Amino acid sequence: MIRQEATRARRPEAGSWTHLISCGTPVRTIVSAPIKALPEAQANPSFHLSAHTTREEMPFRTGSRRKRSEALVDMARLGDELVRIASQMPVHEVPCPACGNGVFDEIVVRNGFPVVRCRSCRCLFVRTRPAEDRLVGIYERFPQLSGGREGQLMDDPVEGLLEAEYRLRRLREFATAGRLLDVGCGRGDFLLAASRDFDVFGVDLVPRLRPDAQMFKVFHGRLEDAAFPDGFFDVVSAVETLEHLFNPRRTLGVIHRILKPRGILLFQTGDVDSIRARLNLKTWTYLQPPVHLNFFSREGLRRLALEVGFEPMKSWSFGRAPTRFPILRHLGPTEVLRPALDLAARAGLLGAMHVWRRREEECRVPPAC
Ligand SMILES: [Zn+2]
Repeated sequence: MIRQEATRARRPEAGSWTHLISCGTPVRTIVSAPIKALPEAQANPSFHLSAHTTREEMPFRTGSRRKRSEALVDMARLGDELVRIASQMPVHEVPCPACGNGVFDEIVVRNGFPVVRCRSCRCLFVRTRPAEDRLVGIYERFPQLSGGREGQLMDDPVEGLLEAEYRLRRLREFATAGRLLDVGCGRGDFLLAASRDFDVFGVDLVPRLRPDAQMFKVFHGRLEDAAFPDGFFDVVSAVETLEHLFNPRRTLGVIHRILKPRGILLFQTGDVDSIRARLNLKTWTYLQPPVHLNFFSREGLRRLALEVGFEPMKSWSFGRAPTRFPILRHLGPTEVLRPALDLAARAGLLGAMHVWRRREEECRVPPAC
């Protein structure tokens, strides 16, 4: 089991809002101290820096013109730095984040962390992981990991907004109004898109909101510390977030609690059963500990939904913008290819985005598991 001192650890920076919440039932009336911005960040407002970011740790250059070779060099630098930092962190051993099983096989070592496969549900996970209260330090040191595409470092705000619009369109099949919380909101792309239909809230360990998303209510810290009331939200989204969590079962339990009965959870995360992962795990860039800690199988997600109290509704392909084929970008090819991509995602060939609905019954995961 996870040690209690780790799961209860609090960071001094946690517990602050970018804006005062005024939403009927008060959530928490703490106004954050403004996050300090360095002169470099003020000159380039697309970067929302944490108070601990120094000049040397500025986010890497972003944008669609960025060359892939540059990104690979950055990734290599990042890996070296992660190994160095993570080797100094206290660690905890955890059971399978999906099914709780403790029997596993070691598969590969990445960034100095062994990645193991659960023998029961076949999820991959970093069994010996940094203590939870230390994880925030990683995102403060590497703010580009909060909201970008980890493993690629291709972090394009235009592309991010295109993806957010696609995600919103698919979400409208299940919900069209109400309160929406984006867990791991990062740059705020989805907050911006969804704000046309929903009253939006965000949570992120290290938010770095884009200039046109600065007005949104964003909690700076863990979801567990935000203290939202029960049944507060109609929709919770968690895009590329579950793989980062120290204890995803616990966080999903909180999501279950703060969703209204039959509320919607929209999420996407890496897929161990995708053809890319099955081809060669050793070159699968998604395996990026200690940034990514959990890599779910379809079976693991099914068990997780059952245990936490969700009903899986639908899965689609990610809907990523085809930046690697710029000639296609202006022809709407994503829409043309969409049915084929969705079929491939459902067949397990591609990673998928999922919609779960909160069941009426109580969550079976204890709050302090
Ligand atoms: Zn498992």
